[in-house]
Amino acid sequence: MQEYEVKAKTVVLAAGTCESARILLNSKTAQHPNGLSNSSNVVGKYLHDSTQSGGGVILPELLNRPRYNEDGVGSLHLYAPWWADKQKLDFPRGYHLEIFGGLMMPGYGGYLGFEGSIVPMINGYIPDAAGKMKPGGGFGKSLKDDYRKFYGTFAAVGCHGVDVAKETNYCEIDNSVVDKYGIPVLRFNYQWGSDEIKQAKHMNETVQAVAKEMGGIPLLPPASDANNWGLANPGKGIHEVGTVRMDDDAKRSAVNKYGQSHDCKNLFVTDGSVFTQQAEKNPTWTILALSMRTAEYILDQKKKQNI
Ligand SMILES: Cc1cc2nc3c(=O)[nH]c(=O)nc-3n(C[C@H](O)[C@H](O)[C@H](O)COP(=O)(O)OP(=O)(O)OC[C@H]3O[C@@H](n4cnc5c(N)ncnc54)[C@H](O)[C@@H]3O)c2cc1C
Repeated sequence: MQEYEVKAKTVVLAAGTCESARILLNSKTAQHPNGLSNSSNVVGKYLHDSTQSGGGVILPELLNRPRYNEDGVGSLHLYAPWWADKQKLDFPRGYHLEIFGGLMMPGYGGYLGFEGSIVPMINGYIPDAAGKMKPGGGFGKSLKDDYRKFYGTFAAVGCHGVDVAKETNYCEIDNSVVDKYGIPVLRFNYQWGSDEIKQAKHMNETVQAVAKEMGGIPLLPPASDANNWGLANPGKGIHEVGTVRMDDDAKRSAVNKYGQSHDCKNLFVTDGSVFTQQAEKNPTWTILALSMRTAEYILDQKKKQNI
């Protein structure tokens, strides 16, 4: 492996929440024995993802529906922000709904992959023309008939919500495992708290209520306490943030509100890692807004010759 050294007056780190923490934690020197920008010992801590749950239904009214162009109707174009902030709840903050379905492009596997998971799942719920329940799967004419009957009859509600940032949820360097460059990888320590599980119960009740109101046939078995009310495992929410958190207080954070390292004034971090607490919304717009603020601050500080 060839090693290179690049020198710069200002360095911007934006490798993503986990990778930025990993780079800082692996960057130990005599001057920064705890890793770079980590005199506070918070780098890697307060890792938090969105909560994630939801459910799908078949809408019997749409069986054998006519085909027409429905581009842009469903998928991630429909979004309901949190509505219950004034209600008395047993968990803090909230979540949003992403509504999708309809005549989406069939695809294998994810996002209601038609041939991958839906047909085997829904046979058994709806009787065929002769009134018999078909077993899962199928081939030949029978499978084509299933496609014609079921395509475009699915609707689903996905929920993403707030996971309250906790010091006890963190990533750290695992010195026993290295990547192909010989650099130690991360190890994760993460557990949902009772607030997130209560929120998932509320999500489940909301999705069930929407499904019932639509006259839909639920495709997923009802959730319960035993499976955390359908709450997906940490990491599945794909909105991980928080490992290089910002704060005015250098003892409690790695960077200031401009993403500038407290320990190293010419180092800036501009990705999801600088969040102190994610909202109920998806994170990308906030990452962009914070990055823009950092960029303007760098220009200003350069002009003033502070960095
Ligand atoms: C399937 C999926 C769907 C999503 N949908 C949404 C959505 O609808 N709305 C939303 O707000 N968010 C969504 N997200 C989350 C969103 O994509 C992330 O929160 C966001 O991209 C994080 O931005 P970032 O700058 O922190 O990191 P990234 O976008 O991950 O950027 C980090 C960059 O650094 C590079 N990099 C990493 N390590 C190194 C290295 N050692 N050297 C050089 N380069 C490196 C990576 O290649 C990458 O380009 C989704 C995520 C996924 C996976």
